[in-house]
Amino acid sequence: MKIQEADARSLLAAQGLPVPPWAVARTPAEAGEAAARFLADGADRVVIKAQVLVGGRGKAGGVKLAGSSAEAQERAGQILGMDIKGMTVRKVLVGPAAVIVKEYYLGAILDRASRRIVLMASEEGGVEIEQVARVTPEAIHRVAAHPLLGLLDYQARALAFGVGLGRAHLRDFVRIAKGLVATMQTNDADLVEVNPLAIVREPGPDGQVERLACLDAKITLDDSALPRHPELERLRDLDEEDPADTEARGHDISYIHLDGSIGCMVNGAGLAMTTMDLVKRAGGEPANFLDIGGGAKADRVSAAMRLILADPKVKAILVNIFGGITRGDEVARGLIDARARQEREVPMVVRIVGTNAEEAARLLEEARFETAATLDEAAEKAVAAACRAAGGVA
Ligand code: GDP
Ligand code: MN
Repeated sequence: MKIQEADARSLLAAQGLPVPPWAVARTPAEAGEAAARFLADGADRVVIKAQVLVGGRGKAGGVKLAGSSAEAQERAGQILGMDIKGMTVRKVLVGPAAVIVKEYYLGAILDRASRRIVLMASEEGGVEIEQVARVTPEAIHRVAAHPLLGLLDYQARALAFGVGLGRAHLRDFVRIAKGLVATMQTNDADLVEVNPLAIVREPGPDGQVERLACLDAKITLDDSALPRHPELERLRDLDEEDPADTEARGHDISYIHLDGSIGCMVNGAGLAMTTMDLVKRAGGEPANFLDIGGGAKADRVSAAMRLILADPKVKAILVNIFGGITRGDEVARGLIDARARQEREVPMVVRIVGTNAEEAARLLEEARFETAATLDEAAEKAVAAACRAAGGVA
């Protein structure tokens, strides 16, 4: 689950990282008020940033500076409603603008290959790391945190030297690097990225001082660990979530939308993957991965059918149920009920074996469903039906 920058900033601040203050505004007027407060507190200018769950906001025009409350209001008006990579901006972050001396990249990821938290740093701050990795991979420095000892000071220092950070900022950098790892562990995150981590210039007691500040924050949380963090679940931004994902979660259905034309409804993740493989072997492309889970009742079957049919690309549906805890007759009733209420007519092939399969077969036959005895047969029939529906191509 991705969270908004403003929320990511809170999680970084909670680990003691240097994050500048901010406010979130939903209207230009709110942005103007927030700007007036920061300007009254001594900021020369404010920064206004689109809050959307995609990167590259700066390049897209979603990050702007303003020197007065009125200007902030105007800039916020330009950013709110803007489309950035398909996402509509509904909120902006407002904060005192930093005076940037130099930008760095610092990010922590969960590296599945080494099964460790890997910290990456680069001198190419402000540039997306994927691009750095493509163009100048040697510019990325990495260290892996020890699973028990965590990130050690010398490792963080090695990163700092790697990116050529001056000695004056070494202690702060070590603290920030360790804070990133702590943020990962505390929140069960997959990714914690600060880009840019910047050297900023500020007025100090005796003239200007330079220090490190986290000017952007991107965090992805591990969905499977969310039950351990009920307070993080509320950071989910439903405005930006695919409605199909929201509905699937509400019904405890594992659903991943894909590009093909054969909607699949299966119980069990392994069987769902096998079903997708067989659809491909039969010459089709699955429209989704969908696991209705064990013991699904008729209402969950109906919900799964709605999800599948909501995808306009679906030309045929393949239902493959291996009844164990799940009862075949329950699924059959769910299918009959769903078809009676569905808005769109799509050919469907059903294979149900296992618990109460005979009862299921009787119900399906009565309701005139097309059935198949084996999975291969079901896949072939579904692909053929999709082919016919699409006028010859699956
Ligand atoms: P992203 O483009 O979505 O990653 O958004 P960022 O928050 O990283 O902002 C993009 C760029 O805007 C940064 O790399 C900075 O160069 C610039 N920027 C962001 N915040 C400030 C700020 O407070 N002051 C100044 N002068 N520039 C900023
Ligand atoms: Mn950034």
